[in-house]
Amino acid sequence: MFTFKEWEKTAAIQAYTTRDGGVSTGVYSSMNMGFSRGDAVAAVITNYKIVADAIGVELESFVASNQTHTKNIRFVKKSDCGNGVTKPNRFTDVDGIYTNEKGVTLVTYYADCVPLFFYAPTVTAIGMAHAGWRGTVLEIGKSMAVAFNERFGVPFSEIEVGIGPSICKNCFEVHNDVSDIFMEKEIFKEFVTANAESGKFNIDLWACNKKSLESVGVSKIYVAGECTCCPNNADKFFSHRRDGAERGLAAGLMAIR
Ligand SMILES: [Zn+2]
Repeated sequence: MFTFKEWEKTAAIQAYTTRDGGVSTGVYSSMNMGFSRGDAVAAVITNYKIVADAIGVELESFVASNQTHTKNIRFVKKSDCGNGVTKPNRFTDVDGIYTNEKGVTLVTYYADCVPLFFYAPTVTAIGMAHAGWRGTVLEIGKSMAVAFNERFGVPFSEIEVGIGPSICKNCFEVHNDVSDIFMEKEIFKEFVTANAESGKFNIDLWACNKKSLESVGVSKIYVAGECTCCPNNADKFFSHRRDGAERGLAAGLMAIR
């Protein structure tokens, strides 16, 4: 699993799963955390059990998002435990979840999209936001920071953010239908690069998310710098762009120790 070294000795349990260590087979091999991909449910549950043991949480503590590329954020509680993992998913259009309750393990899903990990040590609050290119344009990270500020009264300067493994600028090549949307936002313009050879555009989603967070005063931002899509990481991470729809899902996870 990938973890942020900066948070190793803190109250924040955090991880981004790699493909290693699970029981799923074939295109899901081996640590598929997604129930929606066509993999055997029993195998996915076993994978959750393995991960739960590895990070020191209970299987029943998981609370999953219900991601549809929105910027909707939901505060979750102990009474939500099991949602989307050991119980049916009762959420609709929830791309960010956060809590300050112990015994809740946040689960969000990825295969190239940007995982944003939030930790505010002074109020012991955690959050996770799914920022694909749409969530990035919608500035879901900023929405989470604002939610932390409003609910917990924590200043933006005391909110720390980790930008997890996800598609790098070189791999994220798009046509102008997508790049135009980024170019419409002043703060993102500088992170769009035209590729004269291909006639396409590269966008740095890590930089866009960082810039958006900095715009409200979040300054402690850690970038994993690991690409899920680069060919040399094919055995390590699931990637939608590289492998298409026939693949598993990674999970971004957080809990309070
Ligand atoms: Zn890459």
